[in-house]
Amino acid sequence: MTTEPMPVPEPTPLTAPYWDAARRGELHLQRCARCDEAIGYPRLNCPSCGGRELGWFRAQGTGRIWSYVVVERTEPAFAAAAPYVVAVIELDEGPRLLSVIRGVEARHDMSLMDRRVRVEFEPRGNQQIPVFTVQEEHA
Ligand SMILES: [Zn+2]
Repeated sequence: MTTEPMPVPEPTPLTAPYWDAARRGELHLQRCARCDEAIGYPRLNCPSCGGRELGWFRAQGTGRIWSYVVVERTEPAFAAAAPYVVAVIELDEGPRLLSVIRGVEARHDMSLMDRRVRVEFEPRGNQQIPVFTVQEEHA
């Protein structure tokens, strides 16, 4: 197995505010000034109304696992981490993000569905990558 470094995100003018916040350990999203929709990935236009006045705000960094898969085999840069869980996370603000779930057993039994998660950040190169961990459930 060859070992390759994991790719490091290279911010663009559009995505720089997102990565600047991540380096401070904060998850930031855009919000549309026209329709108030929270937006999961940096965009020039609101996907709901087409509005172009998008501002940034700090998200809570919490949500739930909407869906997930267990990655068994992947490209060389990520192979050492396999098996691992990649999930669609529905943030409490509404948008859905694709991310990795850390600290769980990578099992195909769907036991992680709907579990509450919280963002954390992992260093990679000169960036901080958002990942999620499952929160303990208190009765
Ligand atoms: Zn809008």
